[in-house]
Amino acid sequence: MADQANCIFCKIVAGTIPSYKLYEDAMTLAFLDINPGNPGHALVIPKAHAANLYASADKDLAAVMATVRKVAAAVEKTVSPDGLNLLQANGPGAAQSVFHFHMHILPRRNGDELKMNWGLKPGDKGELAALAVKIRANL
Ligand code: 5GP
Ligand code: ZN
Repeated sequence: MADQANCIFCKIVAGTIPSYKLYEDAMTLAFLDINPGNPGHALVIPKAHAANLYASADKDLAAVMATVRKVAAAVEKTVSPDGLNLLQANGPGAAQSVFHFHMHILPRRNGDELKMNWGLKPGDKGELAALAVKIRANL
């Protein structure tokens, strides 16, 4: 498991690696997943590092859920999915691959056949950038 020093999401918070940022406030950050299960697949994280749900502070979880509601509504408005799942993984057995707590906002399409382990297929950078602009406009 990554510690805070080499955590990729801490680097996104610090701005040392780029992201398609959607929303930021004092405690949370939302950005597009670079391997989207469907267009509009977004992640919401606390800025404070915690590896998983069990290690998270209640105040960070509350702040994350407020941001999830806000961003999920904007994603729904932007991509008009048939439905939308919130997902969160704890541990490799649950397919957690980044050990900084995060909520997935995953728009769904009828018949998309997404399973819990949808795999990591890189998104098109131009499409991700254009979609981030549209979702931000709907916040
Ligand atoms: P997990 O499997 O841990 O629940 O999900 C981690 C998610 O983080 C994956 O869906 C993966 O595509 C995404 N991810 C991994 N590295 C990066 C990155 O550098 N930038 C962004 N935007 N997403 C990432
Ligand atoms: Zn981290």
